[in-house]
Amino acid sequence: MALSFDFPDNPSFLGDDVIEGVWDDPGFGQYFTDHMSVASWTVEEGWHNDRLTDYAQISMEPASAVYHYAQEIFEGLKAYRHADGSVWLFRPEANAKRFENSAHRLALPALPAEDFITSVRQLTALDARWVPGGAEQSLYLRPFMMASENFLGVRPAHSVLYVVIASPVGSYFAGGVAPVDIWISTEYSRVATGGTGSAKCGGNYAASLLPQELAYAQGCSQVLFVDAASKRWIEELGGMNFFMITADDELVTPELNGNILPGVTRDSLLTVAPDLGLKPIERPISLEEVTTGITTGAIRELFACGTAAVITPIRSLKNESGEYIIDVDKATHTIPLRNHLLDIQYGRIADSHGWMQQVC
Ligand SMILES: *Cc1c(COP(=O)(O)O)cnc(C)c1O
Repeated sequence: MALSFDFPDNPSFLGDDVIEGVWDDPGFGQYFTDHMSVASWTVEEGWHNDRLTDYAQISMEPASAVYHYAQEIFEGLKAYRHADGSVWLFRPEANAKRFENSAHRLALPALPAEDFITSVRQLTALDARWVPGGAEQSLYLRPFMMASENFLGVRPAHSVLYVVIASPVGSYFAGGVAPVDIWISTEYSRVATGGTGSAKCGGNYAASLLPQELAYAQGCSQVLFVDAASKRWIEELGGMNFFMITADDELVTPELNGNILPGVTRDSLLTVAPDLGLKPIERPISLEEVTTGITTGAIRELFACGTAAVITPIRSLKNESGEYIIDVDKATHTIPLRNHLLDIQYGRIADSHGWMQQVC
């Protein structure tokens, strides 16, 4: 039977003044709404006890498997307030599908897509007053699932907890979209072939933190990972997919080879590319092609993309052997692409791909 994530009988809410205070400067992932969606799973009962409750601490014993073996996955999607006050989700079924795939790889139980979407819709509806209406503001939704069985043996847990929390977020770029410098990590890898690269799991992020710190130390704000075996092929950033635009108006991104997270933003950009005069191409991209292409002018623009920041233009790639700088003032496609996706998400242009789903 489908889960319903019913509203609590007497939901409690923080005052409007609290929300208004947050809206002035929400940042990213710092504040959380009044409620959360929760459901439990056990081998015996399957999914059960689905509900909306107050946002509060989760109580788990120290022996809970997730603390020891990191059997955990998550998702990230946003709810947008349109000019008429209505609230919409962007492609939630794509996140639901990916969550199922991630669950499979981490040996967690599948949460049916329908239940995933209900959990997100119900929380968004109950806490709709938290969805901000400012420029590039939204409500970021974070579904996650973790092993909750008290057992130190190594096997997939027999009990699991699913939670969705929500956080009002502002524009990723406080002072307008700013191009970033990227450090190419060849010393450390994010994932390897046969690993968890195409699953959205916390463990991948844990593995990316040290190389990310090293990127900061080099004056860069993000790290770009290449394949672990040959160090030759570009994969993605720690939490964003990688794109380049060629002088021939091709929009190129590495093909999904099992090591790359299949981003919803990535897929959406490939889909809208022809509407903006770009030819979408998925194929392997070597580091050498990019560094040479920047130098010769064959590659005009680079950017990273993901739900949080939509599109982040890349100004330069750096590694031990040098720095390769894009002339960002000559970039003509990156910002129109970014605006096009935002226009769909905020209901300013027609949703010709049927991506938006109204909540309230
Ligand atoms: C979530 C994520 C992305 C971006 O995916 P979107 O669905 O576009 O937000 C890219 N890379 C990694 C590693 C991710 O976890």
